[in-house]
Amino acid sequence: MTSLGLEDQVVLVTGGNRGIGAAIVNLMNSLGAKVAYTYRSSENPQVGALAISADVTEPAGMEAVTEKVEEKLGPIYGVVANAGITRDNFFPKLTAANWDAVIDTNLKGVYNTLQPVIPKMYERRCGSIVCITSISGERGNLGQTNYAASKAGTIGLIKSLALEAARYGVRANAVSPGFIETDMLTPISDKVKQRILSEIPMGRFGKASEVAWAVAFLLSPVASSYVTGTVVRVNGAHHT
Ligand code: NDP
Repeated sequence: MTSLGLEDQVVLVTGGNRGIGAAIVNLMNSLGAKVAYTYRSSENPQVGALAISADVTEPAGMEAVTEKVEEKLGPIYGVVANAGITRDNFFPKLTAANWDAVIDTNLKGVYNTLQPVIPKMYERRCGSIVCITSISGERGNLGQTNYAASKAGTIGLIKSLALEAARYGVRANAVSPGFIETDMLTPISDKVKQRILSEIPMGRFGKASEVAWAVAFLLSPVASSYVTGTVVRVNGAHHT
C-alpha cells in the first residue's frame, strides 16, 4: 500500500481548533501523524491531538509552543501556519488598529510561529513548512487591503524561505484557498455571497477538507519531495 509518509511525523498546526485548521488537524491525525495544534479562545478538543493555548502574536508564547511540542511529541517535522483573521473595511475607513491587528496576526504571526522551529529543522536537515495564504493575497479583494497585504506578504516570505532552506533539506510552500465555508465567511452578507458564487467557475464555495488535502500533499515527504517555493491554489478556478 502506498502512503504519504506522514506516519509518526510530528506536525504543528496553528489555529487548529476550528475551520480549516481543524480539518488539517483531523486529516493529519488520520494519516498517522502526531499532531499538535494551538488555539487562542476555545480549545474545542480535536481527538488524538495535543492542544496548546497560544496567541501567534506573542513571540515568547510561540517559543514555548515549539518547546512543549518537542518535549511531548518529539522533533517537529511539519508546521502549518494557519491562524488568521479578517478586519475588513474600505481603505478610507480602515483604522490603524485594524491594519495592525491583521498584519500582526497573519504576517508577524507566521514569523513568530516559524522563528523558533526553523533552526531546529536546519540542524536536523528535515522539515516541511506550509503557510495558508489567500486568493485575496494573490489578486486583491474589495475591503481587504490589510488582509491582502498580509497574505501577499506570506507568499513573499515562503518564496524567500524556500530559497534559504533548500540547502538544509527543508521545504517551504503555501496553500492559497479561495472562498471556503468556515466561520470566516459569516460576516459576508448573502447578497455579496451570491455575487462571489457567480464568479466561481465551479459554482460553489470550497470545503475545509479540500484545503487540508493540499496541505497534506505539501507536507508529505513522499508526494512533494521536490516541491518548494510554490503556491498551491484551492479555489474552484476562481483565480487561475
Ligand atoms: P476561522 O475564522 O474559522 O479560524 C481562524 C483560526 O485562527 C481559529 O482557530 C482562531 O483561533 C485562529 N486565530 C486567529 N487569531 C489568532 C491568534 N492571534 N493566535 C492564535 N490563533 C489565532 O478561519 P478559517 O479556518 O477560514 O481560516 C484559516 C486560515 O485560512 C486563515 O489564515 C485564513 O486567512 C485562511 N483563509 C481562509 C479562507 C476562507 O474563505 N475561509 C480563504 C482564504 C484563506 P480562535 O478560535 O481561538 O479565535
